[in-house]
Amino acid sequence: MSCTCLRPSWLEGLMLSLSENHGASAPSFAAGNQKDSLSGFSPQPANRKVAKTSGKTLIKNGFLYAADINNTVIENAWILVEGDRIQAIGNMADPLPEAEHHVDASGKLLLPGFVNPHWHESFVAPNHEKPDDSDLVPTAYSNGGNIEALGSMFGFISTVGQKLTLNEGIAIARWSMWTQLRSGTTALGDVGSANTADAMATAAIDLGMRLRVSRWGSDIMIPNGASKYKTIANTQAQTDDWVELLERWHNHESGLIGGMPSVMGAFGSSDEQLMALREIASRYDAPYATHLAPLKNEREAVRGVFGLTPVQRFDRFGLLTDKLVAVHTAYASEEEYARLIETGVNICHAPAHYGMLGETTMSETGQLGRFLRDGVWVSSSTDGDITFTGGMCEAMRGAHLGHNEAQNCNTACPPTLALKTGSLFGAKALGWLDRIGSLEAGKQADIVMVDIDDYRYQLGNHPLRTYLVTGSSHDVDSVMVAGDWLVRDKKSTRFDEQALFADYQQAVESARARIGRPS
Ligand SMILES: [Zn+2]
Repeated sequence: MSCTCLRPSWLEGLMLSLSENHGASAPSFAAGNQKDSLSGFSPQPANRKVAKTSGKTLIKNGFLYAADINNTVIENAWILVEGDRIQAIGNMADPLPEAEHHVDASGKLLLPGFVNPHWHESFVAPNHEKPDDSDLVPTAYSNGGNIEALGSMFGFISTVGQKLTLNEGIAIARWSMWTQLRSGTTALGDVGSANTADAMATAAIDLGMRLRVSRWGSDIMIPNGASKYKTIANTQAQTDDWVELLERWHNHESGLIGGMPSVMGAFGSSDEQLMALREIASRYDAPYATHLAPLKNEREAVRGVFGLTPVQRFDRFGLLTDKLVAVHTAYASEEEYARLIETGVNICHAPAHYGMLGETTMSETGQLGRFLRDGVWVSSSTDGDITFTGGMCEAMRGAHLGHNEAQNCNTACPPTLALKTGSLFGAKALGWLDRIGSLEAGKQADIVMVDIDDYRYQLGNHPLRTYLVTGSSHDVDSVMVAGDWLVRDKKSTRFDEQALFADYQQAVESARARIGRPS
C-alpha cells in the first residue's frame, strides 16, 4: 500500500523548488583555489590559530562514560590530553598528572565525540511547512513507501549540488554542519547531499570537524508496478564524481576528511552503478554507504524489475562487506538477516527521524532492535532534513526508548548501549574505530562535555539516562576534536554564530533565485 497524495517533505520541497530550472550550472571548482573564491561570504574562521592549545590539558571532575568495550564509567574522572590525543584517563582519587592547562568539568558529563555516520546536507531546500499542520498529508515514506515518488526525487536531488556555486555550497555547509558540531557531533558521514564534496569538505575543515564526503548516487527510478526501470541520470558522470572526490579528499592531509561513495538504494541504482561503486570503493579501500531494505514496498518494486530483492542485489555485486554502511535495514528476510551478520555489514539507523516522516522502521519488523540484541554494532544517526531536526542526543534517545518499547524489554537498548550506537559503533561504520568513538588513552581527543548541573539530575544515579531521556542537543557545553576546543560555553571558538547564519542566508537566497522557486 502506498499513498499518492504527498506532502512536500524535505526532499519533495527541494525538488519542487528546483524543478523549474534543470539546466542551471555552477562554476566549476578550481582545485587548490577554495579560499580565494570565497568572496562575498565570510570567509575565514576568525580565531583559527587561537583555538589550538599547546602543552598538556587536564580535564577534571567530570562524570565520564567512556563508551569503550568494557563500558567504563568513572564518576569523578580526569582526562589528560596532549596534542591531538588522549594520553591517560583516571579517577580524581588517583594522583593527578601534571598539565599546563586545567579545565574544570564539575557538573558535566564527559562523553566521546558523537559520531553520526548517516547524514545528508540539505539546507538549501526551502521550508513550506505550515505551523498548524493544516498542510499535512502522508509523506512518500509513509504507508510502506511510494517507491516511484522517492525514486524520481532522489534522482533529481542527485543533481542539486552541481547547481550551487562553490561559495554558496561552503556557506550552506558551514551552517548545516555547525548545527551538528554544536550538538556534539564530531564526525559526520555524508550519505549523499544537496551540496558538493568540495564545499562540504572545505566547510568541515574550517569548522574543525571530521567528515566522510560523498556524492548522491542515483541513476534510475522504478515506476510503480513497472517491470522496467527508467534511466534518470548519467551513470558515468556520477562515477567520475566519486573518483574525483576520492582523489581529492580520501585520507586527506588535514586528518579530518575521508571519502565514502554512496548510492541512494537498490531502487535507485542500475547494475552498472552498483558495479562501479564496488570497484571504486575497493580501489580506494574506502567505506561506502546506502539505504538498504528501508521500506516495505521497496522489496517487491526491486524484485519486479531485477528479479532480486534489495539485499540480494547488493550481495550479487559483492557489496555486502564490512565496509558497507547499510541504513534503515528493517526489511530483510530471515536468510538475508543471517547473511548481513555473516558479512559484517555495518547496520545504521535514524531512530529519532522515523516518527517525523511516518516510517515504521523500528517497530514493524523489530529487526533493527534484533540486530542489537544479537550483538551487532548498530549505529545511530540523524539522517538529513531541511532544518535542524535533532542531533545525536535525540537520535540516541530514540534508540534507547524506541528499541526498549519495540522489543518489549528494558534491556534491549540501555543508556550505555544507546551511547555506543552514537559513538563507538558509528566510528566503526566510518572506518575510524582506531581513531575515535570512545574515550581511551591513545585515541584522538574527541570529547563532549554536557551540562548536568540542574534540577533534572538531582534525584538520579544515572546521569547518562537522565541526559538521554530529558536532555537535548542544546545541553552540550563544549566540544573538542583532535585536541582542539571547537565549542566552549555553547559557542564556536572559530566563528561568530550570527555571521555563519547570515552567510547561510545570503547563500540560499542567491542559490534559490538562480535555480528557481516553486511555482
Ligand atoms: Zn538517509
